[in-house]
Amino acid sequence: MSKKGIAILGATGSIGTQALDVIRAFPNKFEAIVLTCGSNAELLVKQAIEFKPRAVVVTDSNQFNYVQDTLKGQDIAVLYGESGLVEVVQYEAVDVVLNAIVGSAGLKPTVKAIQSKKDIALANKETLVVAGELIMDLVQEYGVRMLPVDSEHSAIFQCLTGEDDNPIEKIYVTASGGPFRGKKREDLVGVTKAEALKHPNWSMGAKITIDSASLMNKGLEVIESKWLFNLSIDQVDVIVHPQSIVHSLVQFQDGSIKAQMGVPDMKLPIQYALTYPARFKNSFDRFNFMDYPMLSFEKPDMDTFKNLALAYESLRAGGNRSCILNAANEVVVDAFLKDKVGFLEMSDIIEQTLNKVDFIAAPTLEDYLETDRVARVISKEIIKD
Ligand code: NAD
Ligand code: MG
Repeated sequence: MSKKGIAILGATGSIGTQALDVIRAFPNKFEAIVLTCGSNAELLVKQAIEFKPRAVVVTDSNQFNYVQDTLKGQDIAVLYGESGLVEVVQYEAVDVVLNAIVGSAGLKPTVKAIQSKKDIALANKETLVVAGELIMDLVQEYGVRMLPVDSEHSAIFQCLTGEDDNPIEKIYVTASGGPFRGKKREDLVGVTKAEALKHPNWSMGAKITIDSASLMNKGLEVIESKWLFNLSIDQVDVIVHPQSIVHSLVQFQDGSIKAQMGVPDMKLPIQYALTYPARFKNSFDRFNFMDYPMLSFEKPDMDTFKNLALAYESLRAGGNRSCILNAANEVVVDAFLKDKVGFLEMSDIIEQTLNKVDFIAAPTLEDYLETDRVARVISKEIIKD
């Protein structure tokens, strides 16, 4: 059997490097055809020398020459920028595009990959938050698979395997609650980025780690679930589960609930997205019940963590609202990481941006890109004031 050709967009990040661990573990099954990075060029070069892809893409203009010079003579094409990303996802040798870019920058490459009839392994949840309806319509139109990598969505996807057309009554998306679980607004006034970056269970990129502390990550995942599994908003519930062992649950129409469990390790959902519908034997850590004598569940606190409520509201409003929410969130998280705004201010700025950007009921791709641009400008203005 020929190897499955994988393009990893965002190969140098937390998901990207773990995806390469999976490929390294199954050298006869997978081949890295394309690797891309934003600014971590040194790591990209190391990866390119090890995996010998046909092409790499660098989107940071300051790093491009370094990569080109360093890989000279290696028979690896070096491409630049968004146009490079859009080009490499079309390569014939690519069977699956694993999108592990952070933020709405992942949208255009996903669109082009679907239009080139590539299956998508999606870590870049922002793609579905910004333009879920449009993306899932394209998935239908081009007959490709949208394979979730996000652990919650992989869990739901795994619970649905074998259920054919059995309708979902409801899903429960689990949330760890992040480092500030149990805190009230007054406790969060002066929290620092160092505190927010300390996730209790997962080691991830900075943006998603802050999103996890503010519960925006769960809001984005609610939106992601709605589109991936074609659900109504009322069918998507969030339940806080601090141990992060039950990765999510599906309740069917007879009341039966299926859950997917395991240790918190992204390599499993990454591997499943690449091997689906098969399961390959691996040597990842196994779950030990004796390490977890108690698994607990609680209701999310949407008054303290306003972002989750804002995400539900945006999804309910439809149109370009979730796109505005996402863009404003990317801006405030970046500002928080640069100590320019406080933790609680983040939701306030997102809410103000939502109130200031024009509503578009049925956006095109161009409308989404323009909404993303305008929402960023407005959030930055609010931060400056
Ligand atoms: P990360 O910051 O560790 O890595 C991001 C990757 O994208 C890097 O390779 C970076 O160079 C590249 N990149 C950054 N900005 C870019 C841009 N503008 N254009 C092109 N490339 C760019 O992030 P991560 O934690 O690996 O997360 C990646 C995606 O996966 C996010 O959407 C995140 O929400 C999702 N996700 C991550 C985890 C996790 O455990 N890390 C879990 C579930 C979902
Ligand atoms: Mg997740």
